[in-house]
Amino acid sequence: MDFSISEEQKMIQEAAREFAQNELLPGVIERDETQKFPAEQVKRMGELGFMGMMVDPKYGGSGLDTVSYALVMEELSKIDASSSVVVSVNNSLVCWGLETYGTEEQKTKYLKPLATGEIIGAFCLSEPEAGSDATSQKTTAIDKGDHYILNGTKNWITNGNSASVYLVIAQTDKDKGHKGINALIVEKGMPGFEIGPKENKLGIRGSDTHSLNFNDVKVPKENRIGEDGFGFKFAMKTLAGGRIGIASQALGIAAGAYELAKKYAKERKAFGTEIANHQAIAFKLADMHTQIEAARLLVYKAARDKDIGANYDLSGAIAKLHASKTAMDTTIEAVQIHGGNGFVKDYHVERLMRDAKITQIYEGTSEIQKIVISRSILRN
Ligand SMILES: Cc1cc2nc3c(=O)[nH]c(=O)nc-3n(C[C@H](O)[C@H](O)[C@H](O)COP(=O)(O)OP(=O)(O)OC[C@H]3O[C@@H](n4cnc5c(N)ncnc54)[C@H](O)[C@@H]3O)c2cc1C
Repeated sequence: MDFSISEEQKMIQEAAREFAQNELLPGVIERDETQKFPAEQVKRMGELGFMGMMVDPKYGGSGLDTVSYALVMEELSKIDASSSVVVSVNNSLVCWGLETYGTEEQKTKYLKPLATGEIIGAFCLSEPEAGSDATSQKTTAIDKGDHYILNGTKNWITNGNSASVYLVIAQTDKDKGHKGINALIVEKGMPGFEIGPKENKLGIRGSDTHSLNFNDVKVPKENRIGEDGFGFKFAMKTLAGGRIGIASQALGIAAGAYELAKKYAKERKAFGTEIANHQAIAFKLADMHTQIEAARLLVYKAARDKDIGANYDLSGAIAKLHASKTAMDTTIEAVQIHGGNGFVKDYHVERLMRDAKITQIYEGTSEIQKIVISRSILRN
């Protein structure tokens, strides 16, 4: 077994670390407070090749592996999870699905500008009454011969207002259940497509989360991804890979909080010595480090499974479940180690704690990951 990363992967990791320190850290507190979307930072991430990391260079991507993507996600998330979620959605949920299942025309028209970061994408599955139970789609895409007529509402859509291209899951034939669902490529500005108000969130406040309304939107048939009825499978396959991205995000949030807490514990004095010398604090750091190391190995394992063509449904779910719990546990302890300073914005850890929570909710809650894991282990 080889746990080391290659020289090329180290260079990519270092580039992401430098970018995060130099270009994400400045203004991160203000963007969180004002819910400002990191538009300039996203543009720069496009220039650095982070928006289409695993996409074939012939479609404008960087042609890298999933492990490299996980390394970049970890470094970005140590500093700014609101920016890293844009990278995660664009790479895992939009580019991957288009490259894997799209037609040549769809790849030329949509994947190229998405992979270079010229535009960004959104993935639209959740609805007011369809979250964990994604089969309960109320959004309809009625087949009208050469086009579909799309009607309905999508909730909680990341990049909701900033995206130009939206992959929308909708029910075409209710009688066929989940086999009657389609995935359609919808462009911003199509008549009848309205963007709802921005959500005022606990965490990842810089990312822009909106509901979307579709009122008789005419979507050409050539914008359907895959065969008729492939939409639900498309969404599940896409989310399986997305979990590796969110697991890496959770790992980064945890590692970022741990690094800040360790530094603080070695500087802050109480009772005549640095607080790191009090065993209660040292043990907290030991627990954090242990949980993070385990999360990192699980994330790399899932990413590698994807790279070698092995099944990653189980390893991705395990990685997300563990890494998101690690993010929550670690950030709470990082605030505790900072004492009163942990409770104010300047020290960053309170933001990381708020950001950590979403990793247990989106792209499948922790309970849903346990369903995936238990079904898989009980099958054998
Ligand atoms: C900031 C943010 C960004 C998001 N971005 C996107 C996006 O870009 N695209 C998108 O499509 N969606 C997005 N989502 C939606 C997200 O994926 C859903 O919120 C999530 O899947 C949970 O669905 P729900 O909110 O409807 O909760 P529910 O499904 O109503 O779940 C409520 C609770 O019940 C539990 N539960 C439900 N079913 C079961 C079960 N069978 N067994 C045990 N427990 C169960 C859940 O785990 C949860 O704890 C985003 C959400 C947020 C908050």
